[in-house]
Amino acid sequence: MTQITWLGHSTFELRFASGEVLILDPWIEGNPAYPKGYKINKADAIAISHAHFDHTNDVVPLSKEFEPKVIAIFETAAWLEKKGVKNTIGINKGGTIDLGFAKLTMTHALHSCSIKDGDNSLYGGEAAGYIITPKEGKPAYFAGDTTVFSDMALIHEVYEPELAFLPIGDHFTMGPHEAAYAARLLKVKRVIPMHYGTFPALTGTPEVLSQKLQRDGVEVWTLKQGQPVNW
Ligand SMILES: [Zn+2]
Repeated sequence: MTQITWLGHSTFELRFASGEVLILDPWIEGNPAYPKGYKINKADAIAISHAHFDHTNDVVPLSKEFEPKVIAIFETAAWLEKKGVKNTIGINKGGTIDLGFAKLTMTHALHSCSIKDGDNSLYGGEAAGYIITPKEGKPAYFAGDTTVFSDMALIHEVYEPELAFLPIGDHFTMGPHEAAYAARLLKVKRVIPMHYGTFPALTGTPEVLSQKLQRDGVEVWTLKQGQPVNW
């Protein structure tokens, strides 16, 4: 059993049966959707889908506090190391890293990936997603920022995730229309919607996704920020 807590936007805290904590795409400071007063009190690993600020803003402070392993695509990991982040693990698509309590495999995503460093925009590698396979439990797919792509069918074939974290907000990622196609290609049982409602431009809603998946037997699992659920 894994405990999942949504912290707004694409930030999640995953607490595994063995007690270790994995943080996905940490954005706390300035995140309008972050649950007020919520304190992350443990981080054994952080996984980053891509370098945009809304997915990496709090990697440095969390790293200073907890010294977790930090997994990112090679170029973004190298940049974080320069910013003082210890224990970075730069990988690339298709690569798997075994954290002991879970395995992470980097997957494809259709999105951009630049690093904002002062006034400069640096090359951050490519945007990615992850298959997260807990030591005890079924694999889940964290899509990062992406639109639907037909190789999601291959992600189903190769990894068979039962749960998918999918962006649905539209504008910067896919909206509910595309996310419904993604869920069908992935053949998952449940979808946790993310990357919606944070800014006015992110108009996609879980309700619309639910309507679109009504006949497919896929459950849209809408989480409340800061309230853990068990998976
Ligand atoms: Zn984003």
